[in-house]
Amino acid sequence: MAQAVLELFPDTKTAIGPAIEHGFYYDFERHQPFTPDDFSLIEARMMEVIRRADAIVREEWPRKMAQTYFGEQDNRYKLEIISQISANETITVYRQGSFVDLCRGPHASNTSELSPAFKLLKVAGAYWRGDHTQPMLQRIYGTAWLTQSELTSYLQQLDEAEKRDHRRLGREMDLFHFEEEAPGAVFWHPNGWRLFQQLIAYMRDQQEKSCYVEVNTPDVMDKGLWEISGHWQNYREHMFTTQTEDERVFALKPMNCPGGVLLYKHGLKSYRDLPIRMAEFGKVHRYESSGALHGLMRVRHFTQDDAHIFCTSDQLHAECQSVIALVLSIYADFGFNDVTIKLSTRPQNRIGDDAIWDQLEEALSQSLNTLGLAYTINVGEGAFYGPKLEFVLRDAIGRDWQCGTLQVDLNLPERFDVHYINEAGDRCRPVMLHRALFGSLERFTGILLEHYAGRLPFWLAPVQVVVAPITNEVDDYALRVVSQLKYAGLRVALDTRNEKIGYKVREHSATKVPLFMAVGKREAAEDKVSMRWLGSATQDVMTLSQAIELLSVQSKAPQNQGKQNL
Ligand SMILES: [Zn+2]
Repeated sequence: MAQAVLELFPDTKTAIGPAIEHGFYYDFERHQPFTPDDFSLIEARMMEVIRRADAIVREEWPRKMAQTYFGEQDNRYKLEIISQISANETITVYRQGSFVDLCRGPHASNTSELSPAFKLLKVAGAYWRGDHTQPMLQRIYGTAWLTQSELTSYLQQLDEAEKRDHRRLGREMDLFHFEEEAPGAVFWHPNGWRLFQQLIAYMRDQQEKSCYVEVNTPDVMDKGLWEISGHWQNYREHMFTTQTEDERVFALKPMNCPGGVLLYKHGLKSYRDLPIRMAEFGKVHRYESSGALHGLMRVRHFTQDDAHIFCTSDQLHAECQSVIALVLSIYADFGFNDVTIKLSTRPQNRIGDDAIWDQLEEALSQSLNTLGLAYTINVGEGAFYGPKLEFVLRDAIGRDWQCGTLQVDLNLPERFDVHYINEAGDRCRPVMLHRALFGSLERFTGILLEHYAGRLPFWLAPVQVVVAPITNEVDDYALRVVSQLKYAGLRVALDTRNEKIGYKVREHSATKVPLFMAVGKREAAEDKVSMRWLGSATQDVMTLSQAIELLSVQSKAPQNQGKQNL
């Protein structure tokens, strides 16, 4: 692409252009902006470069030569890169036809080997080195695939993802927004907050049935705690801190674990108390650069459906198994049936001896085997303090999202000197498990919105029913319908505006309300309602009590659909 751009627009300067997931980009300095029309010209020239079948040749250049070459081109970016290559490193360039670029390589050996299944996607502004005091460059993104059909399906997926963008749905459905005053923090609107609370209520119910207790720990805790946990030494740049008059330094919790450990340590624990399954909807605060923030998917302040399980090593296997079963049944309830499981095993640098790692990894893998679940192993990808499972779910348009984790931890129980008293009266170290199933509730909300393209299942929809009188003469009846539906536990809105009924249907369809209930004189006289489901052209007329009965059933959260598959 850089070659094609330079041939077509010779006054352009090239900066950097790496390969990225699904494609590539290149940053260019050029006074005029690139337009979509330029894209087709550049793409055609790229095809020509492929057809030319030029050899791609690696050359080692003395520093002086590289400086002269890029100096003559007046390319400050390449000169800056050269100046940062250390003296003992070889400077390499790659040449194809008349085009020469600085690169470590490796490369294909001929331009004819390059796949013609590519497409330029967009152009965006990007500061040189990501530094806002540096010049603003134009970054052209492209995607490349081995075959045309892979390219086509990827472009379709992008198109579909664009339509489902949760930020757009959040606007259209009036769920949330962001403000400059609080980057990466969500302002939840009434409907969005309702959805969020639905997720919490569902999870709370599931955890209750799985014998968890729910706790809550402070948001702001002394620096000393974070020194014991190791976050102060290893995670400081992501932590928000605060100081009081007496010079005491505090940090907003980036993780719930240390608070959970203090709660466990409060009061002596005996083997009879274990396992202790302590859940917390904990809001955590992690500094992320503003460039990394993305709607609900990447924020600085989010709520985890966290839990810490303290158990004996004999109980470990059963605990892992029940967490795994719970994860899968919960995902199935939300319509995610395609879940991949990854087991990350001991890394090079680790604490604890091999016998313990054998035991922990086996507890995880045996649990999966017992449940008859397939999994992949990420060798050496575990944390230094223990192995973990990651649960990756596939959404309606084939994208993968890593959500749940189950992590065994040898570190914190040691650092905080956590123990329990065993049958013989001795102090023993419990095993500590960390698990989160949604992961971040904010992010999971975003994933759900995109998965369902905003058309949430009836039991989750923040507003389930809109009731609209056809004429103002039946406003009183409409009000009665609303109060009876509310009394039955349904989430209902009333629309008595002086607008045509067709207009109201369209408007509430746009906000994805699952059910539209119209009432006219006839319905009022017969105690009936006329119901139209989102996306359906037909209406069902039934008595109000029949409707309430039907909707109450549909409004219940699914119950462990996935358990049947285990
Ligand atoms: Zn934890």
